[in-house]
Amino acid sequence: MSFFSAILCLADASGSDYIKGQNAYKASRYGYAIQLFEKDLKQRPENSYSYFYLGLCYAKTNKKVLAKKAFEKVLEIENMKTFSSKGERPNAVLLKKAQKNIAVMTNRQIKATGNTQKAKAIIQTHAGKSDNYLTHALQSNGKVAHWALSKMPLKIYVSSGQGVPGWNSSMNQTVTYAMGVWHRASGKKIKFKLTRNRKEADIVVKWRRSFGHNRVGVNPFESIGGHIVRSDMILATSYPNGKPLGYNEIQGTAIHELGHALGVQGHSPYPEDVMFFSKNPIQGNTLTLRDKKTIQLLYQQKADITNGTNVSPSQTKQVYGLITQGNQELTQNPGRALSYYQKAYRIDPRNKDVAKSMAIARYNLGIQAMNAGVNAAKRQNKAQARVKFQEAVRLFEGLSQSSTAPSGTAQNLKDARRNLQLVSQ
Ligand SMILES: [Zn+2]
Repeated sequence: MSFFSAILCLADASGSDYIKGQNAYKASRYGYAIQLFEKDLKQRPENSYSYFYLGLCYAKTNKKVLAKKAFEKVLEIENMKTFSSKGERPNAVLLKKAQKNIAVMTNRQIKATGNTQKAKAIIQTHAGKSDNYLTHALQSNGKVAHWALSKMPLKIYVSSGQGVPGWNSSMNQTVTYAMGVWHRASGKKIKFKLTRNRKEADIVVKWRRSFGHNRVGVNPFESIGGHIVRSDMILATSYPNGKPLGYNEIQGTAIHELGHALGVQGHSPYPEDVMFFSKNPIQGNTLTLRDKKTIQLLYQQKADITNGTNVSPSQTKQVYGLITQGNQELTQNPGRALSYYQKAYRIDPRNKDVAKSMAIARYNLGIQAMNAGVNAAKRQNKAQARVKFQEAVRLFEGLSQSSTAPSGTAQNLKDARRNLQLVSQ
């Protein structure tokens, strides 16, 4: 979350980079245009037009995440004009265009990741709706992330801020307050429990004096595969300029960051919402109806990324470490890959990514056996060919009964059986 900063009135002389950038954009020189708009933004950080064009340049060069971020910056800057002392008004046309481009970018991201009909349906149903911002709450690849309701309560560990300048123990209560706010907003579906065991925590809260880049809090949401590993919150006690944050401001930040920790990836485009991009004067220390509706909608969706296993975050990390090790061996040595996956399976038997990986390793072993059989047959070594084809049949048979069977399994099973018959005659 970034904080509200007054819009500085700067001389317009630096606008030439913006004009040059526009010309570069029109000439399809996107890389150069990006440099120019970034230069302009160094001089005029609140020039939403530069962000808009930056978004267009990134969109043209297929940098979807950056494009989306740039368009979101337009929403932030324009909406913050409501609080400008200069009596500026948000540019409705620019806002609408940015909103539309964000939807386009999200759609492209979903296509690129081959992601679900579900995400598409969410965008079709909710994009541009004024009673929720669910489409902004999705992960950057269009996936839905939230904690499993069956695993509630979430365990929260609040670190001591001892030694952090400006911290005092009463600040820990801002976290407890934020927990209550989201618990009620979710219709009491989301539950929390404080833990004294940092290792078993789903969310670890840490304190820091301040951040750079206009920030007063961050949420490193960590997931691997389809699993939430941890979703920490780091809260500042001061603004980047050293001015201490008031208790209320920390409370607001705690609510905002806990919202991210619960799975709300992006930000509300509406300034009055707690989940808006930046802190501002009309945000209260409680959620708006729109914030509430959004968290409820998010938790009604089936999650792509969740914590549906019984293992601890550190075990999940171990599991995915083993998957990565296995993946490196998968083509050269599927047997060794399988042994890594089996180790992972012993840690977390319910993990779907492990099951999928084991199936692929077995499939590759089947192919290997099949090839060895064909080679043996070519050398007229029927006995060895038989052994190899039998092995292939056994592996493909085993796979064909599971739901994780790779797509060529049935055909390969057929081929292996036929080959076995040929060398058995
Ligand atoms: Zn935020």
